Amino acid sequence: MAKQDYYELLGVSRDASDGEIKKAFRGLARELHPDVSEAPDAEARFRDVAEAYEVLSDEDRRARYDRFGHEGVAGQGFHTERFMDMGFLDDLLGSLFGGGFAGATGPEAGADAQTAIEIDLAEAATGAHIDLDLELVTTCEVCEGDGAAEGAEVRTCSECEGAGQVRQVVRSPLGQLVRTMPCRNCGGRGQIPDRPCPDCRGRGRRPQRRKLGVDIPAGIDDGQAVRLTGHGHAGELGAPAGDLYVRVHVRPDERFVRDGLDLVGHLDLRLSEAVLGTTRTVETLDGDEQVEIEAGLQPGSVLVLKGHGMPRLRGGSRGDLRLIANVQVPRALDADQRKLVEGFRDLEAERNYADPERSRGLRDRLRRAFG
Ligand SMILES: [Zn+2]
Ligand SMILES: [Zn+2]
Repeated sequence: MAKQDYYELLGVSRDASDGEIKKAFRGLARELHPDVSEAPDAEARFRDVAEAYEVLSDEDRRARYDRFGHEGVAGQGFHTERFMDMGFLDDLLGSLFGGGFAGATGPEAGADAQTAIEIDLAEAATGAHIDLDLELVTTCEVCEGDGAAEGAEVRTCSECEGAGQVRQVVRSPLGQLVRTMPCRNCGGRGQIPDRPCPDCRGRGRRPQRRKLGVDIPAGIDDGQAVRLTGHGHAGELGAPAGDLYVRVHVRPDERFVRDGLDLVGHLDLRLSEAVLGTTRTVETLDGDEQVEIEAGLQPGSVLVLKGHGMPRLRGGSRGDLRLIANVQVPRALDADQRKLVEGFRDLEAERNYADPERSRGLRDRLRRAFG
């Protein structure tokens, strides 16, 4: 019987990514593994699928298979020495079935922890040191993590006779496999205290409130997280701790909205300021700055303050602060003021309003808003 196409066996396309291939194999192996499946042909199918995976998960062999078909990888598949190598098979089965496959997994590693903080925009721009106060599973201080009560007598584990590991026979499509696993009874340490630590009930860790400082890097954006490696929940009996993820929320700022690295705000100008020009003091995240308002500044003009935006996360250049001019039209004029404006009306000329930039600017803004 002709051999079935490896891609078809796994049910993936020929351009499937490594991840897709792995996922497909994992799913099929869960379904077909002889320890799980009742189907009479499960074992044969498992072998075929494992062979397909063995070839397609290897870049070189996959390339050869793509060019030459089964001939190109003959003698290099599932039944080769490489595959029979226990270490490899162990990895493969482990990656497929996780710790659950063969039972004991040794001391449990710590879980990742999560917390959230709120900072304001100025802190996001400069970076900030934040003190956290949170509940974490931490190493038990009473027994220093070894799980033994004070003065407890430490005995050799009867299960593994002090080796910390047990051999376990596992049924597999290749026959019986012997796997070496951490001893579950002693958590892989080979020794057990006769009385467990009363504070942590022998687990070596327990939930506690902890204070922890975190440095938030300059330039962080709303919703991003900072990872503190190894600062999550403590592992059991010396197993590695998880990571702590600190999600950062940046409070909305009344003055500026972030747009990439730039900040955008607006600047209210009186009609007289826009018409005559002036120097104005404006607020930035770095303190007050002076900007020149040119005579005849049009509403909607953008004043750019270079380098007063947000910094790039990994250092380097800063964005700009863009201020949109909002020209205010005076209201509630008294008689004298009205007379002055009427006087201007009588004198104004076409050239006062002939500004191609303005109509173009408006068109652009409309396009940006609705385009
Ligand atoms: Zn303890
Ligand atoms: Zn043991």
